[in-house]
Amino acid sequence: MRFDVITLFPAQFTALTEEGVVARALQRRIAEIHLRNPRDDTTDVHRSVDDRPYGGGPGMVMRYAPLRAAIEAARAEAAAAGVRSRVAYLSPQGERIHQAKIARISAAPGWVLIAGRYEGVDERLIEDCVDEEWSIGDYVLSGGELAAMVVMDAVIRLLPGALGHADSARQDSHANGLLDCPHYTRPETIADQRVPQVLLSGDHRAIERWRLQQALGRTWQRRPELLQERGMSDVEQQLLDD
Ligand code: SAM
Repeated sequence: MRFDVITLFPAQFTALTEEGVVARALQRRIAEIHLRNPRDDTTDVHRSVDDRPYGGGPGMVMRYAPLRAAIEAARAEAAAAGVRSRVAYLSPQGERIHQAKIARISAAPGWVLIAGRYEGVDERLIEDCVDEEWSIGDYVLSGGELAAMVVMDAVIRLLPGALGHADSARQDSHANGLLDCPHYTRPETIADQRVPQVLLSGDHRAIERWRLQQALGRTWQRRPELLQERGMSDVEQQLLDD
């Protein structure tokens, strides 16, 4: 899977590309991240990427021409590598991203992501070049870089081979509509808190049932609306009935 990110601050992406799950996935060529600065696609002497807003008011707006040139160059490079990319603009006005959407994003071969700055981008760019707008939550960041990294991290860790253990993504919160169960590691006792006995039992069916019960209980306590949307699978019902 390939991401081409259009950003004025490519150095920020080292947070994602130098350490951890995503960095490993990049090394193993499970995913690719290409960074493109629209300043490199300017044609004027000042290499300007922003300008004052029509109608006045505070802040600056990212200009159409450098962004369009960057998007076209990124799509052409992806196409030359055999990848047909769609274009997404990270925006607090976009569709709010959740885990099911992350799974759909991961099914596409490539994305060009536009990280906005200032007051955002010229609206005509969205009209002409953007397929989707994505928000990572109802708050405003200074730029789309962190939002792009959030989405890429969540997507890349789902790709086959990205995580050490294939099951871990399946058990995570939101993967199956539930929150994850609690986890424990050594030592068995900390102060007067003991690890639940069932986890030491070696009885895999009992452990699976306990984990499902915990996940259901937590979801009911913390996010009851998730349970209402979800219901219960036959396998889960049978496990609880055992
Ligand atoms: N004036 C814009 C508005 O109110 O809709 C906000 C601009 S914001 C200061 C600058 C950039 O940060 C945006 O263009 C967008 O790329 C990014 N951004 C801010 N909040 C975001 C969010 N919640 N999700 C995704 N991107 C966000």
